[in-house]
Amino acid sequence: MGATYVDGCFEVCSARNRYRCLRLLLATGIFHIPPEINGVTQCLGHSMFFCKDCDGYRVQNKSVAIYGWANETVEYALAMLAYTPTVSVVTDGREPKWDREHGRWIREYEVPVFQETITRARHRGCDIQRLVLNDGREVEVEALFTTRGDIYYNEIARAFGAKTDSTGQVCVDDRMATSVRGLYAAGCVTPANCQMIIAAGEGAVAAQAINRDLFEESLATHQLRRLRRAQQAIAETAPVVKVEG
Ligand SMILES: Cc1cc2nc3c(=O)[nH]c(=O)nc-3n(C[C@H](O)[C@H](O)[C@H](O)COP(=O)(O)OP(=O)(O)OC[C@H]3O[C@@H](n4cnc5c(N)ncnc54)[C@H](O)[C@@H]3O)c2cc1C
Repeated sequence: MGATYVDGCFEVCSARNRYRCLRLLLATGIFHIPPEINGVTQCLGHSMFFCKDCDGYRVQNKSVAIYGWANETVEYALAMLAYTPTVSVVTDGREPKWDREHGRWIREYEVPVFQETITRARHRGCDIQRLVLNDGREVEVEALFTTRGDIYYNEIARAFGAKTDSTGQVCVDDRMATSVRGLYAAGCVTPANCQMIIAAGEGAVAAQAINRDLFEESLATHQLRRLRRAQQAIAETAPVVKVEG
């Protein structure tokens, strides 16, 4: 999709159409990076998840593995203890990159860490059953959460020069305005927690801000006055008033 600024308007092009607007709201979302495990794709959204806040309740009392090697991996593992006693971490051949404090937590809470490479996932239909390690062991797992990070679809925002943070999230203020005047962003492409109701709420906040922005501009540029004159030229603008009796 092309994105340019033409004659005071944002212009975005799809394969078929070209759209111009005075204000642009981006809700381009993110891509959760999946684990590199053979056989796990079918389990996505059924027994393989990205979000503990969305799906933690679904894995109560199951054997849960957390895929990753970062501080977030440890935090996911500890948070999952609220739902189930059987939690492990699988690093798939990577050295853990978590800091000393997170390493201390892993030991203190006695969460097993499997550092071997995972050769494949065994599953029945959409249900993951075991992770096969390259030392021949098979870890029984009924749910897998992955913490490999996200890719933010911020290319349109960046094409217009909007500021992004170090992870790629589009920076917004409390009205969902980006650093570029007239350009707004909402949902998972912003620093919001990635949930549907939050994305929808941010969209509503942005829509209200855009309406306010357009209204104020129409007053400042006298566009509203011109509209009013046009209305007065073609129609009776005072309401009909009837006097009873
Ligand atoms: C497996 C899974 C399970 C989830 N479960 C839950 C749940 O249980 N509860 C919950 O609240 N949330 C859940 N979520 C998160 C929820 O889907 C998101 O919070 C929500 O969809 C975010 O909305 P959004 O508008 O920001 O982005 P999205 O819904 O991702 O929409 C972004 C759209 O922009 C399009 N796009 C991106 N770049 C471009 C471009 N350059 N040009 C044109 N189009 C572009 C994308 O193709 C996409 O269609 C889940 C997500 C996943 C992946």
